[in-house]
Order: sequence, then C-alpha cells, then structure tokens
Amino acid sequence: MTYHNPEAETMARGEIEAIQNKRLKETVAHAMRGNAWFRQRFQEAGIDPSTFRGLEDLQKLPFMSKKDFRDQYPLGMCCVPKSELAEMHMSSGSTGTPVVMPYTPADLRQWADCMARCYVMAGARAGDVCQITPGFGLFNGGFGCYHGARAAGLFVVPTGAGNTARQVKLAHDFGTRVITGVVSYTLRIMEVMAETKTTLPDLKIGIFGAESFSDEMKRRIHDGLGIEAFDIYGMTETGGIGTLGMDCPEHCGLHQWEDQYIVEIVDPKTGEVLPDGQVGEVVATSLTREALPVIRFRTGDLSRIVSREKCGCGRCHLRLDRISGRLDDMLIISGVNFFPLQIEQALLKIPGVLPEYRLIIKDHDGTKKLRVEVEAKPGVTGHQVAKVLKEVLGFTPEGDVYAPGSLPHAEGKAKRVIYEKD
Ligand SMILES: [Zn+2]
Repeated sequence: MTYHNPEAETMARGEIEAIQNKRLKETVAHAMRGNAWFRQRFQEAGIDPSTFRGLEDLQKLPFMSKKDFRDQYPLGMCCVPKSELAEMHMSSGSTGTPVVMPYTPADLRQWADCMARCYVMAGARAGDVCQITPGFGLFNGGFGCYHGARAAGLFVVPTGAGNTARQVKLAHDFGTRVITGVVSYTLRIMEVMAETKTTLPDLKIGIFGAESFSDEMKRRIHDGLGIEAFDIYGMTETGGIGTLGMDCPEHCGLHQWEDQYIVEIVDPKTGEVLPDGQVGEVVATSLTREALPVIRFRTGDLSRIVSREKCGCGRCHLRLDRISGRLDDMLIISGVNFFPLQIEQALLKIPGVLPEYRLIIKDHDGTKKLRVEVEAKPGVTGHQVAKVLKEVLGFTPEGDVYAPGSLPHAEGKAKRVIYEKD
C-alpha cells in the first residue's frame, strides 16, 4: 500500500482531531484578521478568536453559502492582499454571477497535494501516463488534475476536452494508464473505441468527478473499458477537484482529507448536525487554505458518513457515501421526491440497457410529468423498463427505448435532465 503523503494519510483518529482543532482556530483567526466580511460576520455571531475553542465551538460558526460567493464577487471574501495571489478558478452555474476561488502559491500546493493523494490512492505511480480530459480554463478540472499529476510525478498528456477521436488515438499511442474526466464522457470514448476498433490495453485507472454516478455505471465502465473507476470529490468553493477526497481501492465510501477539511452532515432544513449514518447536506470547512478559506460551507450535496473507523487501506480519514444528489437536483413529480441517480441505478440493473439515458421533465401549467428515454440493445422492451421504474418511483413515467446511438451523446458532462415548458 503506497501513500503520496504517508504522514497525513495514516494519521490515527486522535491525531486527525488534534490537528483539526489546532488548524480550525488558526483558520478562524486568519479569516478575521485578513478580511472585513469574515470579521463582521463572526463578530455578529459572538466569535472572539482569542477565546474560540476550536472543534468544541465549531457549531457556533455561521454557515457560508454559494450566495455569499456570488454576493462577494470577485474578491470580497479574499483574506490575503491581491498581490499574494497566484491563480484563480471560477464556476458559473445557472444563476449567472460566477463563484470565484483565488489561490496563493501555498493553496496551489495544498490542492496539488490533495489531488496527488487521490492519484496514488487509485494506484497511479510515478512515470505513469495520465491523460487529462477536463478543459484547461476557468473551470478547475483541467488545472487541478494537472497540478496533482505533477506532484505525483506522472507524465501528463493534457488533451483537455473534446475531439474524442484524437483522445483515443493519443491514449493508444502514448499508452495512457490513468484517465481523468467526467464519467459520461467515458461512454463517448468507449463508442469511438468501438467505431475505430481501437483497444487501450494500458488503461487501468479512471478518476471521475463533477457528476455523480451509480455503482451500476461503475460496473459498466469496468466491463467495457477494463478500468477501475474512482469517484473524486471537491468543488470550486473548497479549492477544486480532489480537495475533499475520493474512494480508495476498497470502494467503501469517499475518504475525506480530514487533516485539510472538516466535513459535517447537517439537516438541510434546520442546519442541525446529524448523527453518523443519517443522510443530510455536506458542510465543509477548510483548515489550511489562505486566500479564501471556506468555513462551514453548505455544499448543497447530499450524503451520509459511512464510517470513521480505520479502513482496509490504512486510512482513518472518514468515509462519505457516494453523493446521492444535490439539493438543487432533487425532482418532485407526482408527489414523489427522487434524484436522477436513482433512475440511473434502476435502469442499468436491466440487462441490455445502455448507459445513455435522459429524463425529460415536461411542465404543463405547473404540473410536471416525467419522460424517460433510454438506449438499449434489441430485445429490451418498454414494458420491462416501465416495470422497473414503477418499482423505484411508485408511478409509471412516459418513455421509450431507443436503439444504440439514437440519443444525443455528450462530448463532456452529459445533460441528463431536460426541462420542457409548454
Ligand atoms: Zn480506504
């Protein structure tokens, strides 16, 4: 078993908590010293850095939200002078005003360290060829994969997004062993491989972020491409891809880099911290970030803490369940609440159903109807699909089964849910 940062990754539970306690106090003091917005907000909550007790007082700290990032665009929450910044990334989202994350050189090293831990945890070794398929630009995916791959000593093939035929050719010609990207794009790569009759015998590891995927999808990718798929976690606000963590080869939950972040699960309605095992909203606090620390940031992601016990891989860093959905993504149709991922999971359990599907939500005078379109090999009937969906949803949506290649296929993150208004 190899670790990128053995000291941090093999800390015992007690050591993790001691370092969290120390770093939380430092982070609160740093934010209040460096930025007026944090100072005012924490003073209003009665926080005094000289008497703040660390973990014991964590729940006295107010939450941060995406809205705070948008309201403080571009650098209203930055805790260091602008002259100390080295890089920035940004995500736009649907509401318009972007979320900006600035980095000092130390923040970039922190990001690279978290990402490198993920690569090595997945089995990547120095000298391995690593193909990076997220775009290199404002979105953090490409650069995050790059910084981490360099820290882990990998040989980077920085293809960026799109041009799938070239991706497949380069992966073949350079002997790519590790690929990073979004899981839906892998499906496109598998199609092109089939069309061009290319095999990629060296490809062994897939690190996928930015969209949740089911175990069934993981299995399909393993069967189709022969790679082990890992589910990486992190977002613009926490400092980018891989900052929070990833699942290890035991695949029993996503380890969170707890020496770098405190992860809590709270009731999305009341904000109360929930006991381990209960599903709620993931809240993250960064412990070493300088330019823009997040303190009790409400991610909008839903998950639960699976375990804080030592894992078979030797890490004690707590494990989160796969992200079951985002609060924003939850669909309510015919009075039933569900996440798109639940439908994916159900569909892919049917033999012959292919991992290309879309959910069309038709809004007619405020009444929403669901239509499910899925590709499948000949022999799969609409009746079969309808039966499985009824078991999950309690109602039977409209829908159709399509021949392979009939639905629009994504060159990047797939758009699985489509809204149509009459
Ligand atoms: Zn593990």
